[in-house]
Formats: sequence, structure tokens, C-alpha cells
Amino acid sequence: MATLPTEFPATRQGARVTSCTGCSNENAELKRCTRCLLAAYCNRECQRKDFRRHKTTCGEIVKFNAARDKIDPVYLRNPFFMGVSYCIGSLPETSHFNFLGQRLIVVVEIIGRVLYENSSTVKVRDVTNQFTHIIFKFKDTDEMAGLEYKLRLGTYVAILQAPLRISSYVNKTTDILIESLSQIYFIP
Ligand SMILES: [Zn+2]
Ligand SMILES: [Zn+2]
Repeated sequence: MATLPTEFPATRQGARVTSCTGCSNENAELKRCTRCLLAAYCNRECQRKDFRRHKTTCGEIVKFNAARDKIDPVYLRNPFFMGVSYCIGSLPETSHFNFLGQRLIVVVEIIGRVLYENSSTVKVRDVTNQFTHIIFKFKDTDEMAGLEYKLRLGTYVAILQAPLRISSYVNKTTDILIESLSQIYFIP
């Protein structure tokens, strides 16, 4: 699996890249990478020099963006998502618990899983390569059994208004508990 470097720390919470991805110059009039629309460069020379390093990340971001584009129909047909929603590019920092109870929508990729009869845990990462675990715990065991086929590695899912919990104060880790299928959208 390709590992995303911390190339875009500024993109958390949807912030824009404000310095050149190649040379870090902050005073240039930046031009965006036309593939990922996230990296930005002073000029073609900076982009060319950075290409070997950037191309893996660029490809990963393109995949996440394509997955995110597919969640638009979810908004449109589900009245549950009317009103104020937060569609964010990456998982909130552990310290940002003001997201609790809000309509948080974030796209993540399944990269690991442990399946049990009553509860399944998948490890996911967001576009900036931040990890967390999603815990599925439905009351209906038949519904749980059907999940096994959906929770495949490499699948992109959108988390829709599921509560973020602190799983360890020591490690400052979070997990996300899914108690109903309406809290998650499997991106086709
Ligand atoms: Zn530059
Ligand atoms: Zn790019």
C-alpha cells in the first residue's frame, strides 16, 4: 500500500495549500496540480522537480476525490442530510470534538479488518493518511452477517453523522461507532 507522506498538513479541515508544494515558497502566485487540485506550485519548473515525489500522493488523492464525488447523490435523495452538513476532507483532529453531534461526513478507505459475529472492526485511513477504527455493532445479527461482503479492503466508505469517540486518552486515539447502516455509505 502506498503511504501518503505528510505532504499536505494544511489540508485538514479543508484549508487551502498556501505555499509551494515543491519549494515551500509562500510568496508565489501558485498554480494547482490539474490532477489532484491540491498540490500547488510557483511554476512548471517547481512542479517538474517535485513530480517523482508527488505522483504517488497525487494518485491517492485523485482516488479519494473520485470517491467523494460519488456521495453527492446521497445528499440529494436522503432528507436526513438536509440542513447543515459538514463534508470534510479528512478526519477531525482528536482535539476537535466540537464536531460531536454535527453532521460530519468524511470519506475513508478500508485498509484492515477484524470480523466477529456481533461486532466488526475495520481500520481506515483518510486522504491525509490519518488512521482510525470504525466499529460496527448492529443489534440485528443478520445485518451484521451481511456486512462481511461489504467490508472489503480497498473499499471507500463515507461516514455519515456517526459519533467520533475517544477510545484511549493515553494514546489520544479515536474510533467511530456505527450502530445503523444509515450512518455509513458504501461508495460503489
Ligand atoms: Zn516552488
Ligand atoms: Zn497532484
